[in-house]
Amino acid sequence: MTPAEVAKGALRRLAQARQEPTPENYARAYAEEAGQPPPPDARSAGAQWAGLIDRVVRGLERGARQWTPARKKDSLQRVLEGSSRDAARLQQRLQALLQAWESDAPLDGEPAPATVTDAVVQGDWPRVVRGLQVTVGTALSAKEGRAEELADELARLAQRLAAEGATPEIVVAVEAACVRAQRWLGHRQQLFDDLGRLCGELGAGLVELSEDDSWARGQCEVLQSRLAGGIGARDVRAATELLADTRARQRRVREERAAASRALKDLIRQLLGEVGELGDHAGRFGDSVERHAEAIARADSLESLAGVVQALVAESHAVGERVRSTQQRLQRDHDRAGELESRVRELETELRRLSDEVATDALTSVANRRGLQQAFEGEVARAGRADGGPLLAVGLIDIDNFKKLNDSLGHAAGDVALKSLAAAVKERLRPVDTVARFGGEEFVVLLPGTAADAAQQTLTRLQRELSASLFMHEGREVFVTFSAGVTAWRAGEALEVALERADEALYEAKRTGKNRTCVA
Ligand code: GH3
Ligand code: MG
Ligand code: MG
Repeated sequence: MTPAEVAKGALRRLAQARQEPTPENYARAYAEEAGQPPPPDARSAGAQWAGLIDRVVRGLERGARQWTPARKKDSLQRVLEGSSRDAARLQQRLQALLQAWESDAPLDGEPAPATVTDAVVQGDWPRVVRGLQVTVGTALSAKEGRAEELADELARLAQRLAAEGATPEIVVAVEAACVRAQRWLGHRQQLFDDLGRLCGELGAGLVELSEDDSWARGQCEVLQSRLAGGIGARDVRAATELLADTRARQRRVREERAAASRALKDLIRQLLGEVGELGDHAGRFGDSVERHAEAIARADSLESLAGVVQALVAESHAVGERVRSTQQRLQRDHDRAGELESRVRELETELRRLSDEVATDALTSVANRRGLQQAFEGEVARAGRADGGPLLAVGLIDIDNFKKLNDSLGHAAGDVALKSLAAAVKERLRPVDTVARFGGEEFVVLLPGTAADAAQQTLTRLQRELSASLFMHEGREVFVTFSAGVTAWRAGEALEVALERADEALYEAKRTGKNRTCVA
C-alpha cells in the first residue's frame, strides 16, 4: 500500500469508529492500517486501554448486519476468556475483533458469522427448513401472483440454505423475504376479518329485509348466530349451505305463488267474459221483450197472441238457462280460486313449519341438525351423571364422490343413496346411538359410552359392510362409500368444537384415499 492509501484507510477507520481525528488517534489508526505496532510513546497504556474500551462500548451500541448484539457479546467473551493472562495478546485480539465489528466483516480465522453451528446445519437443520418452507408455502398458496412468487423465492432460499448453510447473503435474503411474507399474511388476515364482518352485515341486512316471521328470517338469524362466535371452516360451510338452501326454497315458493296468481288472473278474465256475455244476452232479451210487447199490442187474434207468448216464454227460458249455467261456472271458478288461495296459505304455513324446523330430516328420516343438537344435549346431561367419566364419541361422515353419483345417475338416485345410507348406518348402530343428517351428504353420529378408537373400529366395520351394493338403480347395483372422522368429546365443549376436530380427521381420511376413518 502506498502511504496515501494507508492515510486514506486511517481516516476511514476514524470515521467508522466515530473517533475524533486527534493526532494520537490518527497515529494509532495509521499504525493499525499499516499493520504496524501502535506508536509506543503516543499514549500511555492507560490511554490505549481507555481508547479500546471506548471502541468496545461504541461497537456494542452500533447496529450491524452481520454482527448482531448477541454475536458481539459472544465473541467479546471468547476474546476476554482466551487472553486474560496476556495483556499484549488481549489488546491485539481486541483490536482485531473491533476492526471486524467496525467493518462488519467476519473475523479472520473465525467461521462465517452464522448463529447456527455447523453441527446443526449438517444435522436437523435442513429438515427444520423444509418444514418451515412447506408451512409458509401452504400459507401463501393463494392463487395470487405475488404470494406464489414469494413462496417460490422462499423455497429457493430454503434449498440454498440446506445446501450452503446460513451464509450472510442468504440470511439477509431470507430475512427480507420473511418480512414481505409477514406483511402479505397480515394483509390477508385483515381481509379475512373484513370478510367476516361483511358476512355479519349481509346477514343483518337480510334479517331486516325479510318479512316478519318468514322462513328466510329464521334462517338468517341462525346464520348470524353461527357467524357471531368467530369464523371456523365449518361455520362458513354451514352458512353457505344455509344460504343456498334458503334461496332454493324461496324460489320454489315464489314460483308456486306466481303460478297461483296467474291462475287467479285467468279466472278473473274468464269471469269478465261471462258477465259481458250475460249482459249482451240480457240486452238482446230486453230488445225482444219490447218487440214482443209491440206485437202483443198489435195482436188481433188469440192465435197470434199465443205465438208471441210462446216465443217470449222460450226466450226467457233460454235466458234463465244461460244465467243458471253462468252461475254454476262462476261458483266453480270461485271454488277453484278458494282452493288456490288455501294452497298458497298451506305453502306459507309449510315454510313457517320448516323454519321452526322439526327435529327430523324430511328425506332420510334421521335427525336433522336440530334433532342432533337435542340428542347431544341429552348425552351431555347423561354423561354428567355417569360415574366412569363422560365418554362420548362424535363422528362425521361424508359420502365419497357423491357429486359424480348425482351426475351419472341423476339427482333422484342421489336422494335414494342418501336415504339408503342413512338407513344402513342407523340399522347397524346401537339403539342408543344417534345418526343425524348434518348437511347435503354429511352425517353425524354420536356414540355414547364409546372411546374414539372404538368408534373408529365401529365406523371402519360399517365401511366394510357397505362394500356390498347399497341399492339398485335401473336394474344395476349401486355402490357407495364414505369417509369419516371421529373424535372424543371433551367434557364441557360445544358440539361444534368437537365437530371441527372430527372434520379435520375427515379431511385426513379424504386426503389419504377415502373410504376410511381417521381419529383426531
Ligand atoms: P368427496 O369425496 O370429496 O366428498 O366428493 P363429493 O363429490 O362427495 O363432495 P362435494 O362436496 O364436492 O359434492 C357433494 C355433492 O352432494 C354436491 C351436491 O350436488 C350433492 N348433494 C348435496 N345435497 C344433496 C341432496 O339432498 N340430494 C342429492 N341428490 N345430492 C345432494
Ligand atoms: Mg361434502
Ligand atoms: Mg362428499
